Amino acid sequence: MLAGQIRLPPLPSVRDLVKLYKLRAIKQLSQNFLMDERITDKIVRSAGKIKDHYVCEVGPGPGSITRSILKGAPHKLIVVEKDTRFLPILELLQESCKSQTDMQIQIGDILSFDLKTAFEGAPKREWDYAPPPIHLIGNLPFSVSTYLIIKWLQYISEKSSAWSYGRTSMTLTFQKEVGERMIAEPGQKQRCRLSVMCQLWCNVDYKFTIPGTAFVPKPDVDVAVVTLTPLRNPLIDAPFDLVEKVLMTVFNMRQKYCSKGISRLFPDCVSEELTKKLLILAELDPATRPYQLTNEDFVRICYVYKLLCEEYPRLYNYNYRMPKVLLEDYLQKFEESLRQRSS
Ligand code: SAM
Repeated sequence: MLAGQIRLPPLPSVRDLVKLYKLRAIKQLSQNFLMDERITDKIVRSAGKIKDHYVCEVGPGPGSITRSILKGAPHKLIVVEKDTRFLPILELLQESCKSQTDMQIQIGDILSFDLKTAFEGAPKREWDYAPPPIHLIGNLPFSVSTYLIIKWLQYISEKSSAWSYGRTSMTLTFQKEVGERMIAEPGQKQRCRLSVMCQLWCNVDYKFTIPGTAFVPKPDVDVAVVTLTPLRNPLIDAPFDLVEKVLMTVFNMRQKYCSKGISRLFPDCVSEELTKKLLILAELDPATRPYQLTNEDFVRICYVYKLLCEEYPRLYNYNYRMPKVLLEDYLQKFEESLRQRSS
C-alpha cells in the first residue's frame, strides 16, 4: 500500500463482482473496464493529493477507479454513472467507505450533470490562487470525453460550473491519438483545433499511456491519461464561441496557407479586403499553414476578427457552411449594412 492511502474493508474483487452480477460490457456505451489496481492507483495519483478533497468521478462503471479514489480518503466523492446496472456494486462501495468518505451515487448523464451544485460546500479559491481541493476524474468512452472536454473548456472560459470554485483540475482518459493532439506544439503533425483550444485555457499534462490490453474488453487503441489544470492567466480573453468558430474555420484547411482558411471567415464580397487587413493587423505571414501557427498567433487572429465584427455588425453571423437558402438572405442583409455604413 502506498503512503497516504487507507485500506478499504475486504471486498470481492471487481472482476468477481462483474461476473457475479453478469455485467457484460455494452458496446453501444463503449464500455471498457480496467481491472488492474496498479493502473487505477496510478490514474488517481496523477490527479495529485485528494485526501480530504472533493472528487467527482465520471463513469465509475464497476468501480475500479472508484476504489483507488476511496483509498486516497477524499472528504466527498460523487460518482456519475449512466448505466443503472452498476448501482448495486457502487452501493457496496458506498457502504464500505461510509465512515471516512461521503460517497454519493448519481445515476445520470455527465453531459447534463450540474457540477456547481454537486460541489456545494466545497472551499472556493480565487482564480489566481492555487487550484481548489476539487478534482474531476474519469475513464469515459472516448466520444464522450472529447465532447466533454470542449464543454468544460467553455465553462473554464466563463469560470462557471465546477470552475466557479477556482481552477479545478481534471484527470481524464482519451484515445492516445487524442491525448497527443491535446499537447501538440506548432509544426507537429498532430497539431489541430483541439490542441489550441486546450492550450489557450489549460496547462495540459500527458501523464502516461495505458496499453489497450489492460482493458476488458480490449479497445482497438491505447489510452492516454491527461491532466488539465486551468491556467492562472488564460492566453485569451474572448467569447468561447468566437474562438471556437475561428479555430474551426482556419483549421478546416489545415494543409493550405492560413490566409485561405482565414478568408473563409468573411463573405466573398469583402473577403479579400478583410483577409488582408486581418493578416496585417495580426502580423501573420500569409504563407504559414494553420498547424504551424502558435497559440499567440491564434490569439491575435481572434482579437482582430473580434474587432472586425464590431466594425461590421452582421459579420459575426456569417458562416461559410451556411446553406444556400440562408446565404442568399444573409448576403442581402450584409450588403445592405455595408451600404448604410458607407452612406
Ligand atoms: N471507470 C470504469 C473503469 O475504468 O473500469 C468504467 C469505464 S467505461 C470506459 C465508461 C463508463 O462510463 C461506463 O460505465 C459507462 O456506462 C459510463 N458512461 C458512458 N457515458 C456516460 C455518460 N454520458 N455519463 C455518465 N457515465 C457514462
